[in-house]
Amino acid sequence: MAEFFSANNSQNNPQYNSLLEKFLRDMNEMNGMNGEDVSRQVGEALSELCRFLRVEKLTGVFYSGHKEEKANKGDSYTCYDTGNPSEERMRNRLAVDAFTIVHIHIFQSPDAAPWTDEEISRIDLIQHTLVVYISRLRLGKEVDHFTYFDADGYHNIRYFFRAMQRFAMLDQLNGMVAIHYNLKHFSLVNQQIGRIAGTVVMRNHFNRLQEIIAEDGVMGRMGGDNYLLLCSAEVLDQVVDYLKGTTVVFDPTTQEKVYIQATAGVFPIPQDFVLRDPGDVMDKILNAGQAARHAGGDEIVFYDEMMEEQRERNSRIQRMFPNAIRKKEFRVFYQPKVDVWGKELVGAEALCRWFHEDEIIPPVAFIPVLEQNTDICKLDFYMLEMVCRDIHRWLMEGKQVVRISVNLSRKHMLDVDLLEHILEIVDRNEVPHQYIEIELTETTTDVEFRDLKRVVSGLQQAGICTAVDDFGVGYSSLNLLREIPWNVLKIDKSLLPTDEDGEDSIRSVMFRYVVSMARALGLECITEGVETAQQVELLKKNNCDLAQGFFFDRPLPLESFEERLDRHTY
Ligand code: C2E
Ligand code: MG
Ligand code: MG
Repeated sequence: MAEFFSANNSQNNPQYNSLLEKFLRDMNEMNGMNGEDVSRQVGEALSELCRFLRVEKLTGVFYSGHKEEKANKGDSYTCYDTGNPSEERMRNRLAVDAFTIVHIHIFQSPDAAPWTDEEISRIDLIQHTLVVYISRLRLGKEVDHFTYFDADGYHNIRYFFRAMQRFAMLDQLNGMVAIHYNLKHFSLVNQQIGRIAGTVVMRNHFNRLQEIIAEDGVMGRMGGDNYLLLCSAEVLDQVVDYLKGTTVVFDPTTQEKVYIQATAGVFPIPQDFVLRDPGDVMDKILNAGQAARHAGGDEIVFYDEMMEEQRERNSRIQRMFPNAIRKKEFRVFYQPKVDVWGKELVGAEALCRWFHEDEIIPPVAFIPVLEQNTDICKLDFYMLEMVCRDIHRWLMEGKQVVRISVNLSRKHMLDVDLLEHILEIVDRNEVPHQYIEIELTETTTDVEFRDLKRVVSGLQQAGICTAVDDFGVGYSSLNLLREIPWNVLKIDKSLLPTDEDGEDSIRSVMFRYVVSMARALGLECITEGVETAQQVELLKKNNCDLAQGFFFDRPLPLESFEERLDRHTY
């Protein structure tokens, strides 16, 4: 920074000269310091100068333009004040630049000797110096604002990190709790009440949390509906309760309100935790937050070491995947579907098994991991390819082939070429379309619903059957059944009454209702997870014709399934 002032005025008072030098030196060094340090350092030299010049009080009022000046709405800075009785003796108006006008007010004790001309010129110099000094501080504040706030006026992640580091420096971080939370379905809230009211809801929700955590914590926004929070352990229960669900008023006159829920990742910072980088804490709460969003059930997830291990296992799977698919470690197992009346084999579901170094990895261990990116799509197409090759061979061998269903992850819904992709594989293997069925799970949002409808309609036009998989888990909706042209409804195991369930149990009633609804809609209906003879009887009693489950067969390796194909009855 260039020197703004130099002490080359021909002043002949050595005491004044040394004070002024100190003052100017401090000024020139203020670059790079934060506001508090500067005011302490410059303040000391300034006080001495003021005392020397019999000034009791010195105030600067900054206006951003003439309009503010006229309305007398400026930012006031008291630079020096002895607190003794004083009266204003001098007032100067300085125009710093086109946007800044400063009024400097200088006070003296009522019985102080008036200033000499030379003293007035000295005071003048101090005034000018101060104006530059305060202007810089103000500019620093503006920069601070943009550094630590986002465009909507929320503290940002940089602020949050700095606050975390401060707590760590003061030895207060250990024992505190860090939280990342996301407002659930906020785009739906915006749709429901409009964006403007949505913004008010966000702000009110944030403010209420801020009240709960009070001065002992800090909050920030990461962007969108993602927030960060650091609070003391004492208020954690209150914070969690609030995040789980609360009503937020958005119109104070009508008292209109919405219900807001959040998913959150929580990391209680242990006593022995050493903060090397705020990013370490972020990693933990983001991971727990992600687990919370995917959990479906528990929406507030606490970070623990288990999660770290899980994450390590997951990334191992993701790393292993490309090699595994190249080395054909994935194999198709077939689980028969059986007609409960004639005990006849009518179809099968292709289920994936991963053979890795003498170990069979079950789908639950890798499907959700592969669903975190688009690897799952590669796997599904691979499975479809293998199934088509098998069907083609069976047909060539003259076997009595049944329809085989293949699972497609919802991740495919964004692929606009999905239909072409499926047909390319099926047709290249010369498999008649009636032998293929595609199983898709239910969907949660409107956007996916539209995509799902497009895909299912396309498949139907191509003569390929589609099934709603896992019906009854999650967000079953009648719309899903009515508006999309499915062929098959697969009732999930969780809706199938166990042998212990009475006829009037909720599950029995629901099961009966779902089967009759499927029939009324003209859908083929199959129940998954049928394990006992009593359950087979229950299916018959409720007119559900098809079953899949351990009672008939587990998912079978190729050779065993081919035996079933040859025999065809149970
Ligand atoms: P799903 O599509 O609902 O498959 C049925 C699951 O129920 C299979 O689990 C099957 O082994 C199991 N099951 C069948 N009968 C019974 C029974 O009587 N009792 C019990 N307790 N379970 C039974 P699996 O093979 O472990 O697969 C789990 C899930 O993984 C599947 O659920 C499916 O969503 C997914 N999956 C499997 N293979 C693939 C694939 O190639 N692609 C995709 N996207 N997902 C797949
Ligand atoms: Mg399935
Ligand atoms: Mg299923």
